[in-house]
Formats: sequence, C-alpha cells, structure tokens
Amino acid sequence: MTTKLYYQSPYTESFSTPVTKQAKDEAGNWFVVLEGTAFYPTGGGQPHDTGNLNGISVVDVQEVDSEIRHYLESPLPDSNAVIHGEIDWNRRFDHMQQHAGQHLLSAAFEELFSYKTVSFHLGKEISTIDLAIKDLTEKEAVEVENTVNRVIRENRPIEAKWVNEQELSQYPLRKKLAVTENIRLVIVPDFDYNGCGGTHPETTGEVSTLKILSWEKQRKQIRISFVCGNRVLKQLHQKQAVLTQLTGLLNAPEQGMVEAVKRLLEQSKNQDKAIKEVKEELIQYEAKSFASQVETISGRKIIKTVFQNRPIAELQSLARSIIAEVSNVVIFLVAENEDKLQFVCARGSASDVNMKPILEKILPIINGKGGGSESFAQGGGENLLSGEELIDKLVISCSTTF
Ligand SMILES: [Zn+2]
Repeated sequence: MTTKLYYQSPYTESFSTPVTKQAKDEAGNWFVVLEGTAFYPTGGGQPHDTGNLNGISVVDVQEVDSEIRHYLESPLPDSNAVIHGEIDWNRRFDHMQQHAGQHLLSAAFEELFSYKTVSFHLGKEISTIDLAIKDLTEKEAVEVENTVNRVIRENRPIEAKWVNEQELSQYPLRKKLAVTENIRLVIVPDFDYNGCGGTHPETTGEVSTLKILSWEKQRKQIRISFVCGNRVLKQLHQKQAVLTQLTGLLNAPEQGMVEAVKRLLEQSKNQDKAIKEVKEELIQYEAKSFASQVETISGRKIIKTVFQNRPIAELQSLARSIIAEVSNVVIFLVAENEDKLQFVCARGSASDVNMKPILEKILPIINGKGGGSESFAQGGGENLLSGEELIDKLVISCSTTF
C-alpha cells in the first residue's frame, strides 16, 4: 500500500520515494507505483494532481484496486531508483480551495434552508453543486454566500480525522456514509461534518472567498455555479475587462449599461423596419422600370434579367410588382447566389403560359427543387450553368411548352 502523503500533510509539494512498480496498463499506457506519494488521484469530485517524477510529466493519477498509478509522459529510464516527485502546487491548492469551499457552501445551504447537495463537480474554471430543490431565490443565494464568507473570515480549523464505524455516531454527519472502514471525516467544528477523501486546507481562511456566479434548473434540481479563492479574482478580472470594453463601446457608465443596450436594440429594430419599408418602395420603382423593358421573343412578350446575390424573397416580390404593372408578359428572374442558382418565373394576368411544365423541364438541369402555381413559380439548385444560360433555357422552354 502506498503511503498517502497528501493525507499526512496536504501541503506536501515535493518528496523522494522508492519506485515499487513500473508497468503498462491494458490500454498500453505507462504508469509507476510509489512507496509514498503526494499526488492525489482523481476521486470524490476532486481532479488528480499533475507535476513530475524526476522531471518526467505526470499526466494522470488514478487509484485502481487500491494501487495509486502515476501515468507518465514517458517511462522512467531506471525504475529501481529512488525518485523525486513534485506536484503542481498552484493546481493542487486551487483544488483545495474549491473543495473546501464546496463543503462550506453545501453546509450553509443545509444549515439555513435544509437544501441537500446531491452532487459536486470541480471544473477547470467553475465548480458546481446540484441541490435537490426546484427553485432558489436571489435572497437565499445571497444569505448562503454571506454565511460562507463569514465562516471563511472566522478562519475556523478544517480537521481531517480517521474514525471507525463505532466512533461515527459521535458526529452529526450530513450524509450517511457508503464505507464502513477507512472512514475519513472532514470537520469544520460546529458547522460541517462530512465523510470525505479529498484534500483541504487546514483553515477556512485559506479558501479566501466564495462567490456564487449563477444557478439554473437542471432536470428536477438546481445547479449552482461558484468559484473560490484565486478564481474569484480571475472571474472579476475577466468580467471587469468585458465591462470596461462595453462602457467604451456603448459610451455609457457601468450602471447605465443595460439601459444603453436596450436602447441600442430598440434602435436597431426600428432601423430594420425602416430598411424593409425602403426596400419595398425601391422594388416598386424597379418594377416600373422593368415594365418598360419588355422584349418580344418568338412572338412572346418577356421580361428577363439575372441578378448577383439577391435573396429569392426579393425576386418574388419584384416579380409580383412587375405583373401588377404589365399583364401580358412572362417574367424570368434569376439570381446567382454563391454556388446556387435561384429563379422566379411568373406570368401576367393576360398571359396564359403555364409555369408548371417550365419548372419540370428546368429543375433537373440544375439538380434543383421548386414549386408554385400555373401562374407563379420558383426554384433553386446548383450553379451547373450560368444565370444567362439558365434564362435562355427558361425562354426556350416557355416557347416550346406553349
Ligand atoms: Zn471534501
């Protein structure tokens, strides 16, 4: 059994110890087992430590059948030697802060409102707990946050104790334990009593501070996102940077930001509406101009043109406006839109050309899809030919179908 130095002192950053085994696991990854280790293996919601053994990076630490496996970037050249191990202290201390913070947060929710924590996740940026409740109010969250930060300020001890099953009854545990031996309790006197195998600082003051960031419904529970310690500063820094940029961009003070954004959105909505109206008016003028460009091809009066990058909705609206101006024409409008060809074909009320057979002839040429009535139809497909070539085919199909 490896001596768990992280339990003897969670502050052990480096250590020397003999290697007891070096082997490959089923997946072919090298790992070593040590006589003693300060590397915490993934467990109890807390991620594993990283660091190095004799300068070789430890990329993962897992406890498999009570064997603590240190997965290395490359195997140790001499597996008989005593090796020197160093853990990434910043990462570990951050985990200790988040983990101890979680204990305090869960304890405060239970103490103040009897809200039970059902799970904990220590994330890379943000940690979460899930509470077995359906709703949480702003007021409750603030109260819990204040309580946690008061307990942090009071700098109470955080004690870790090994006890046997009989001794357990002396402690007001929050949750019934799943294990019956090697029971480790983590205790903040008069506040929190928990079975836990993680690493924690020895005082609440080292958690430094806790901030609840947000909460959301997660199935039938409430998921609370929070940060502790240096992460609070990091969050504040990130949010401040965003706010500072926004105050500059919006030319509004921090407190007036929401109002400024609301105004901006309202403005943009009004502008969109105005642009839509102007476009519709423009189409009316465009339609009038097209109405005077009637060509006679094989005895049939036709208006045709090719656009670049014009939405099909505009083509439709333009075609409708043109047939409102002239009644004895057939209209072919084509748009070359990136790698697509889109078109509208329509007839005026005095024309009797049927658009359906035209569509049937044209769509296969461009691998296209479309639909419409005998008097008005549209389609689109691949740009297998140019817009002009497509117009020619439309004109020809128009003469042959009649
Ligand atoms: Zn814990």
